[in-house]
Amino acid sequence: MDERQEIEQLRRELEQANYDYYVLDNPTLSDYDFDHKMRRLEELEAVHPELVTPDSPTQRVGGKAAEGFREVVHEVPLESLQDVFDFAELREFAQRVREGVEGSVEFDVEPKVDGLSMALEYRDGVFVRGATRGDGRVGEDVTENLRTIKSIPMRLPEPLPHLIVRGEVYMPKAVFEQLNAERELRGEALFANPRNAAAGSMRQLDPKVAAERKLDMVVFNIQKAEGRSFTTHTETLEYLERQHFRVIPHTLCQAEGQIEERIRAIGDGREKFPYDIDGAVVKLNNLADRELLGSTAKFPRWAAAYKYPPEQKPSKVLDIVVQVGRTGVLTPKAVVEPVRLAGTTVTNATLHNQDFISEKDIRIGDTVLVQKAGEIIPEIVGVVQELRPEGTVPYHLPDRCPVCGAPVVRDEDGAHIRCTGAECPAQLLRHLVHFASRDAMDIEGLGPAVVESLVNAGMVKIPSDLYHLDGEAVAELDRMGKKSAENLLSAIEKSKGNDLSRLIFAFGIRQVGQKAGKVLAVHFRTLDALMAATEEELTQIPDIGAITAANVVSWLHSEQGRHLVEELRKVGVNLESTEAPVGTQLAGKTFVLTGALERFTREEAGAKIEALGGKVSGSVSKKTSFVVAGEAAGSKLRKAQELGIPVLSEEEFLHLLADCEAGAE
Ligand code: AMP
Repeated sequence: MDERQEIEQLRRELEQANYDYYVLDNPTLSDYDFDHKMRRLEELEAVHPELVTPDSPTQRVGGKAAEGFREVVHEVPLESLQDVFDFAELREFAQRVREGVEGSVEFDVEPKVDGLSMALEYRDGVFVRGATRGDGRVGEDVTENLRTIKSIPMRLPEPLPHLIVRGEVYMPKAVFEQLNAERELRGEALFANPRNAAAGSMRQLDPKVAAERKLDMVVFNIQKAEGRSFTTHTETLEYLERQHFRVIPHTLCQAEGQIEERIRAIGDGREKFPYDIDGAVVKLNNLADRELLGSTAKFPRWAAAYKYPPEQKPSKVLDIVVQVGRTGVLTPKAVVEPVRLAGTTVTNATLHNQDFISEKDIRIGDTVLVQKAGEIIPEIVGVVQELRPEGTVPYHLPDRCPVCGAPVVRDEDGAHIRCTGAECPAQLLRHLVHFASRDAMDIEGLGPAVVESLVNAGMVKIPSDLYHLDGEAVAELDRMGKKSAENLLSAIEKSKGNDLSRLIFAFGIRQVGQKAGKVLAVHFRTLDALMAATEEELTQIPDIGAITAANVVSWLHSEQGRHLVEELRKVGVNLESTEAPVGTQLAGKTFVLTGALERFTREEAGAKIEALGGKVSGSVSKKTSFVVAGEAAGSKLRKAQELGIPVLSEEEFLHLLADCEAGAE
């Protein structure tokens, strides 16, 4: 046997072994022998690079990473399916089919795999290209990632000149659970469900990463078969089975009763499939009849997807735990007795907020119905009242933060409860990001990622710690380095000189925005004067409402507020204001801005108007004083003309501003 023949034989043996192992679940070659043969094939291919072909088993892993995915125009579109939600709708569908064709009718019933739709293309029996469904007409070329899926045959035993096969790529449920468990350990974001995980893996540009994700594929349709004709769908599936594909389980049914029975059986047995299913597909078996019925713009008339309602199971609430998110919101979660649901083991259920708990009256000790509908965290549908044990009590969220012990408050939206602790570790990140943001202390280079590194390294516990940072230690942080550290420290240093108005906004007091910060700074001039003011005095100031006044006073007088102010004073942060008083030249005037302005953004133009006491509104009405119309102004300009409201060009608007500002001096 020469080396060319040996290469051929090794490829056949290795592919057969892949098929036996991955599709038939029936290993015929030991791992040792498999590795040994693979090694020999690699050696031979290294000596004969001219003999390496893309369908060689050596090419399944390790191709080069792609720079992006090329578009693929599907020769035969990958259509959608019409949904039916109950047996009555299903019968109507079957009836329409029977009316459209002659003679007896058979339907094939298959599970509907909840994965990613793909088209695989073979030329002369060799896998040449695979593409995602995309919008059904144009998808993305993911050939290299598909090659890593061992159950996809690279070469077919009965080749045809051109064959296109459709199926679903999925992440086996067991692989998904393991992947998420590992991600949780590493503190990485979890995938919501196997489908998202599969999608994320398919979009990996590096096939090595895709290969690690152990995806799989099941096929269920021939899109095109040049040089071969089939009479029924069943025949096509049998052909695909002979070509070593993993083929969807399929059952032929005649009467409606039989179809329904099969659908029920698929639903009841969904646990047993290695993939998630979200329905059952009912398809007309005769291919000539399919042609006769044709398709609508969206889906074929000869098939329907029966959708199962989300699976629900009873479980017991063992405990209710409260987590504090980065934004300070307290989120309650039920710890439930482990229960198998939609293919995964469920141990937690989200409780959303106090209203949700109160409305359903969920108590520790209750038996509840748990449901999983596509999301990773299942939901509680309701309490099984008959099973409520004696002595349970209604559940209330704590009135203190479980992380820092500070009191909690209800949000303005009423639904969420939030920790008020300015130094609460759970909230620190959000707090610092706000403190450094552009409209607050404007510290360049101090974005969320850097803040997170500083907090994780324990270098910052309250905002004033920023002013004590050690340059060398900062340079050591992830993705920092000496230069960035220097830049960051000088930006922090520079922020010490900011006007008091920025600092007041940077405190992050609820209801105190940029404008209130400015009004208070201009009015009191020093932080000490503001701290000495009473709630009543604050409410006297125009533009300061009762809630804002109350929040300012309670924050400045809280232990945390005082502490932060003292620390900032010590490091030399400016606590005074030189802001010009808010102007009054445009008081009582309302402006509407429309079209594109050249000299400034709408926000800047708006800020100028407001600085002179005017107001900006989004829509034109009789009360509008001026419309400022930039390039390509549209309906607002027309409306102004209809109502006879003065329209200013950008030039005229600039003049008006200049006049007002001159008058202010
Ligand atoms: P939809 O996109 O919900 O209208 O449903 C069509 C999707 O179901 C397509 O993406 C198919 O790839 C997918 N599907 C899953 N299993 C099957 C199956 N057994 N037969 C046909 N389509 C299926």
